Amino acid sequence: MKKVLTIAGSDCSGGAGIQADLKTIMAHKCYGMSVITALTAQNTTGVYGIENCSADFVKNQMDCVFTDIFPDAVKIGMVSSIEIIKAIAEKLREYNPKNIVIDPVMVSTSGNKLLKDDAINTLLNKLIPLAAVITPNLSEAEILCGFEINSKEDMHRAARKISKNYHGHILIKGGHLEEDANDLLFFDGKIHWFEEKKINNSNTHGTGCTLSSAIASNLALGYSVRESIQNSKDYITGALKENLNLGRGNGPLDHCY
Ligand code: PLP
Repeated sequence: MKKVLTIAGSDCSGGAGIQADLKTIMAHKCYGMSVITALTAQNTTGVYGIENCSADFVKNQMDCVFTDIFPDAVKIGMVSSIEIIKAIAEKLREYNPKNIVIDPVMVSTSGNKLLKDDAINTLLNKLIPLAAVITPNLSEAEILCGFEINSKEDMHRAARKISKNYHGHILIKGGHLEEDANDLLFFDGKIHWFEEKKINNSNTHGTGCTLSSAIASNLALGYSVRESIQNSKDYITGALKENLNLGRGNGPLDHCY
């Protein structure tokens, strides 16, 4: 059995974060493990509190995982603060796992900050360089490249700019542009578009977490980066089409699909 570790925040309502990741990893028939960076009190209507884990306790969790059940892939989501980012980067350098996928989570759909403003540079300089794949959405890509993205051409320009400092695979998710859900993969100067019709479903809570943990699971299973992204987009599309409708707000996906 392939083993996948998620390093992320907990969503007590089960739609995003660690809980979405573990459900996704399980749906891919992999063994899931979790290093928790922060507890959030949230539901489909918003985030109502955040308690960060101490950096030392994040390191303790990582030591426990890596010295016992070494993962075939690692997904990283909400990392909260400079101290936690540094702790994760130190341990990743020590254990050197393959197939690191970073979802540079900054703000939730409900508008709550999941990364402190002063931590963005540390994320960029210390953690992102360790990743095989990063999966920014449009607003995260705008922060990483420093300009507004309003078109597919802008997405391409943004990827080129980000690639000046990061040499892994950059997947910019275009789901929030008016057009269809077209995502851009940029690697080694070359681009590939993943094209998908937009599904009319407002229950998208945790989509980013789900996509990145699906990519990590596919990489663990031995698929190439491009195959892993395509398989993961197919999984998200299927989960959205199930049209699960839970909660009073922006509901979660059906991970069991
Ligand atoms: N909560 C946690 C713990 C997360 O990691 C994330 C995203 O990565 C979110 C909330 C945001 O979820 P969404 O923006 O899909 O509602």
